[in-house]
Amino acid sequence: MALMTGAQYEESLRKMRFNLYLQGEKVECPVDHPIIRPSLNAVKMTYDLAHDPAHEELMTATSHLSGEKVNRFTHLHQNADDLVKKVKMQRLLGQKTGSCFQRCVGMDAMNAVDTVTFEMDRDLGTQYHARFEQFLRLVQDEDLTIDGAMTDPKGDRSLPPHKQADPDMYLRVVEKRPDGIVVRGAKCHQTGALNSHWILVMPTISMGEEDADYAVCFVAPADSAGITYIYGRQSCDTRKLEGGALDVGNATFGGHESLVIFEDVFVPWENVFMCGEYRYSGMLVERFAGYHRQSYGGCKVGVGDVLIGATALAAEYNGAAKASHVKDKLIEMVHLNETLYACGIACSAAGARTASGTYLIDMLLANVCKQNVTRFPYEIARLAEDIAGGLFVTMPSEKDLRHPEIGPKIEKYLGGTSGVPTEDRLRVLRLIENLTLGTAAVGYRTESMHGAGSPQAQRIMIARQGNIEAKKGLAKKIAGVAGEDTKQGKN
Ligand code: SF4
Ligand code: FE
Repeated sequence: MALMTGAQYEESLRKMRFNLYLQGEKVECPVDHPIIRPSLNAVKMTYDLAHDPAHEELMTATSHLSGEKVNRFTHLHQNADDLVKKVKMQRLLGQKTGSCFQRCVGMDAMNAVDTVTFEMDRDLGTQYHARFEQFLRLVQDEDLTIDGAMTDPKGDRSLPPHKQADPDMYLRVVEKRPDGIVVRGAKCHQTGALNSHWILVMPTISMGEEDADYAVCFVAPADSAGITYIYGRQSCDTRKLEGGALDVGNATFGGHESLVIFEDVFVPWENVFMCGEYRYSGMLVERFAGYHRQSYGGCKVGVGDVLIGATALAAEYNGAAKASHVKDKLIEMVHLNETLYACGIACSAAGARTASGTYLIDMLLANVCKQNVTRFPYEIARLAEDIAGGLFVTMPSEKDLRHPEIGPKIEKYLGGTSGVPTEDRLRVLRLIENLTLGTAAVGYRTESMHGAGSPQAQRIMIARQGNIEAKKGLAKKIAGVAGEDTKQGKN
């Protein structure tokens, strides 16, 4: 089966046996849980759209391994055009779901692991790349969703992994056996983990020799024995238990994160892609982060499109659409959103081939992209709140609107321009609330700050890639300063 349908994907998840806790209770099957279900719907969209002829070009690609048509989320980028299409696909999915659709972390992890295992084998004579390719074949043939797991708890941030008071603050190998390894530790903020078939674990920082046990990369079925999931709660999440749809804002789609704990999980050697090669952990972190920083130039833009649309509707529904300052604020929102997209497209178009043949984004531009993402969605959200007015945080509930006695009073007093049903106005305001303060704000706001690395991580990369020395050389030459620096940087 090369391409699963959304329905087949859902059925495949029903067969998983996760050890999952949510709000202090064990959940047997996440698929039908009302808090979790919208996140599954968002991933399902990545399957359904692949069957839509209108979106086939973005949603599918030709596998370099089998020559078969595969879902782009399982594809390794074979050229810069693939990188550009990835970003366009992510914008499309952000527009369709208004939320995080989760499947990108696995795609980004697989592309990064492909390039690093190839270079490790070339330099060290290890056998990791062939193992990884075997796993990738399975992913492509069965159209699987993969959780790319990087972030460790990290304990005391001033100490490296081996110096932590509790050695489990970074995930590590606790035993090497003839048939495989045993790992212990945890991964935090795991986007879409419970909608994934496999989990691809990577180290979270550059490691030194004494951290060799922590330099580990492997895959495991997401419901392996010894893995526990503790579901992360989101602002306003229990509204999904109230039965109605209006107060949720986006009742169909959402994202999720969980804390994933590995307690002595056994991983056979064929699923291990790094084990002790600490010098390559930093390269893997940088490349995965680079790909995911590119991703935000697509997904956040698509969600931004939904927020801009909702804001324009809110203005229209209360008669403010023609006010010049409202028009100008909407222009500003579009300008900011398209600037993010421009960075996502630019770092993709400037991508280059790595030794394995897989294309990597331009690192400097990908980091600039994510640095902008740590700021612009906040400004877009601020402008949305400005235009929406205070009602989106003070209005009564859906139950009040449906109440035979007070419902008509709400209809009357919260109506806007004539001809627009009050309920439509309230629905759009709840969507703005969802995107800026509710469950979707996890992805649109805080994840924009910290996802794919916090702002300082990008500044370190920008400092490293910015090539100030070459720029000084350019200035010296034009200024006629003696001792002209002839180093030529690409930037
Ligand atoms: Fe994909 Fe964006 Fe969600 Fe990351 S935050 S998984 S890039 S949709
Ligand atoms: Fe993310």
